[in-house]
Amino acid sequence: MNYLRAVAQRPVMTDGTCHICTETYTKRGMSRHLSGCLPAVDDGPISHLRITGERRSDYWLHLAVAETTPLSALDRFLRDLWVECCNHLSAFTVDDQRYERPHDDAGMGGAYRAQSMDVAFGSATASVDSFSYTYDFGSETALDVRVVETGDWPISELEADGTETDYEGIVLLARNQQPDIDCEACGAPATTVCQTCLRDPAAVAWLCESCATAHEDGCDRPRYLPVVNSPRVGVCGYRGPATVDES
Ligand SMILES: [Zn+2]
Ligand SMILES: [Zn+2]
Ligand SMILES: [Zn+2]
Ligand SMILES: [Zn+2]
Repeated sequence: MNYLRAVAQRPVMTDGTCHICTETYTKRGMSRHLSGCLPAVDDGPISHLRITGERRSDYWLHLAVAETTPLSALDRFLRDLWVECCNHLSAFTVDDQRYERPHDDAGMGGAYRAQSMDVAFGSATASVDSFSYTYDFGSETALDVRVVETGDWPISELEADGTETDYEGIVLLARNQQPDIDCEACGAPATTVCQTCLRDPAAVAWLCESCATAHEDGCDRPRYLPVVNSPRVGVCGYRGPATVDES
């Protein structure tokens, strides 16, 4: 599987930047750091989450999520920042309850009852300290979500610090720096991944710009995707967050 291969190739733990104070911490140190860095003011229950690629653990986010934020908003945030390629199905799984999007009330799952994501984060996750998220059940990107702690931080004050603000009740607190991936042909930083070759363990798939040009000759069906900072890099048509063209 291409995921396993990507992990085997890059066992490095990524550092990340705290968006509140702009300091850099290790993956392990960030949870502890944020406990001290989050301002302590009473503004209603907020959960501090750490979200990690299940099989690509060098990609991770820390979020503050308000109890009243619907799961659908968290889904939209994760899609927009990290995983959206062509509008696949997604779902949160909390214990044995699944919240999916899109959701069909008629229920295709038989005994397995899924709900819509139109439910508050706080009530859906009240009884757990971890749950999972899956985007695309074909070539899936699975994420582990852990509740690091719950507190009364002022989410409006966090939002004012210049992080993601388009998602009410969700603030990006910290994020991994882009992992270094070497070109498998020459060792320079890889900028492109050949999706066809990613499926073949014997082939060279991660490529720098000049080796990608040379790759055309040897590859049956070159299909390039950019190397981006996401656990979905190299999967389906993922090319990074869609950017609005303002020109
Ligand atoms: Zn900080
Ligand atoms: Zn896709
Ligand atoms: Zn190269
Ligand atoms: Zn190829």
